[in-house]
Amino acid sequence: MAKLNLIGNMIEKVYDVILIGAGTAGLSSAIRCLQHELNCVMITGDITKLDYPFQSTPAESVHPGLDTLMNMLSADKAITSNSRGTYTRIYDGELFQELGRDENGAWTGTHIDKPGFVKSLFSVALSYGLNTITGEKIKTIKREKDYIIVNTSTGNQIKSRFIIDGSGKEQVAGKLLKIGKTNFSNPIICWSGLSRITNNNQMASLKTSFQKYGQNWLWLAPEINHYCTWTQVSTGKNKIYQAPVALLNASLVSPIQIHSMRWRLYNQVYTDRIFLCGDAAGLLDPSSGQGILMSVMSGIFAADTIAGIFSKEHSEAIAGSHYQQWFQQVFRDKVSQLNKYYAESSFNG
Ligand SMILES: Cc1cc2nc3c(=O)[nH]c(=O)nc-3n(C[C@H](O)[C@H](O)[C@H](O)COP(=O)(O)OP(=O)(O)OC[C@H]3O[C@@H](n4cnc5c(N)ncnc54)[C@H](O)[C@@H]3O)c2cc1C
Repeated sequence: MAKLNLIGNMIEKVYDVILIGAGTAGLSSAIRCLQHELNCVMITGDITKLDYPFQSTPAESVHPGLDTLMNMLSADKAITSNSRGTYTRIYDGELFQELGRDENGAWTGTHIDKPGFVKSLFSVALSYGLNTITGEKIKTIKREKDYIIVNTSTGNQIKSRFIIDGSGKEQVAGKLLKIGKTNFSNPIICWSGLSRITNNNQMASLKTSFQKYGQNWLWLAPEINHYCTWTQVSTGKNKIYQAPVALLNASLVSPIQIHSMRWRLYNQVYTDRIFLCGDAAGLLDPSSGQGILMSVMSGIFAADTIAGIFSKEHSEAIAGSHYQQWFQQVFRDKVSQLNKYYAESSFNG
């Protein structure tokens, strides 16, 4: 429930937090806000768009570190119930590299069904009592003294103390507020698909692998039921948007998806009670392998920061700049890591 303000003889609702976007960043921050008993509302696109059958879109591969975050969100089954395969090591064309190891053995990553994963997070958020507004386009975001006002295409006005933007590549708040951003790479294009392999020997030969050839990178994620997701990334000019050579004889299950993945980061991911999270704050190509992890981490961090401000544990300015420094540092560290990998090839990130 939102708080109610009395203005003259009119009553208006004021939320603690407006969340934009029901992706992994938006839903993680929503669950965390609700765990902190903040009043929040999520403005989302059409949720029925998540109704893809299992294993009908390319999988996304998640780092084992995501398990801990899912436990924090009471969404501990979200990974296993949407698993399409697991891996403990990655083949680079010559050698296998383990993800890591501790006293319990090798770490395990998971190729997840992304729409299913998002649906699982959404149902956890609903079980905490998430309010949603769907089918409304955000037209403006304005600040008014201590409040932020979101105006939508239907003339609806929604008021809150804070905003968390998890709108992904749409980057709604960054665009509407005209926040400056920096490109950290030349144009990079990524295309991906899901293939079905009927030949048993061919399937058995596929390994979770990350390999470079020329100006391209290829990520292969073999899955259960004789499927394999592939993702290619290129800075080259002459690209052919097709499955990788090794899978040209397999049948394509999903249409090939093409994305511009130039590395880019908003110069301010926190500005005056507005937090940008996940891809809405900064975007790297999928070879960073941690887009989902970063979206969940930043969503949780933003929600915890807001809860700390409400409980007067932190001052608004210090807490906001802490978030800003953390996100920028993590992003820049990843850029240096990727540049190091790419420097070894003709890639020029
Ligand atoms: C081809 C490809 C492969 C990838 N593979 C991997 C991988 O293997 N592992 C990995 O960790 N990451 C991978 N990533 C990256 C990962 O998908 C993203 O980093 C991650 O999903 C970002 O989450 P997000 O919540 O910030 O954004 P999204 O998941 O994009 O969510 C944004 C949400 O906001 C909603 N929205 C947008 N505009 C509006 C609006 N105006 N109003 C309301 N709602 C709005 C959208 O509908 C969506 O629900 C891959 C990306 C691509 C493109």
